[in-house]
Amino acid sequence: MSQASCRDFDPELWFPFSPLSKDGQFALAVCAGCPVSEQCLARAERHGVRHGIWGGQWMENKRVADLDQDALRAAVRSARDAGWGQALIARHLRLPHQSVARLLREIGR
Ligand code: SF4
Repeated sequence: MSQASCRDFDPELWFPFSPLSKDGQFALAVCAGCPVSEQCLARAERHGVRHGIWGGQWMENKRVADLDQDALRAAVRSARDAGWGQALIARHLRLPHQSVARLLREIGR
């Protein structure tokens, strides 16, 4: 798609380990301003894509709970650095509040 806003960026940015990571947040921001996002998402859904960010949507079917502890800590750190509170992180990652509280304690301030 010649109008794709991502055309001049490294495609790897659209395949982050988490949509909350720095790369994931960047890709989602680019998608938010893309004039062909609806077509992009429709095409990804039509082809059953299950990896990466397409049309501003995180297509992974990998459950956050399946991430290893290092990846989980990195996701929580990215979310915290983006200004997200504990409740929002817990809801978005579908984790118990106690788990998020423990991860936040582990990564420190
Ligand atoms: S919506 Fe699709 S085409 Fe547009 S920037 Fe995102 S991934 Fe690229």
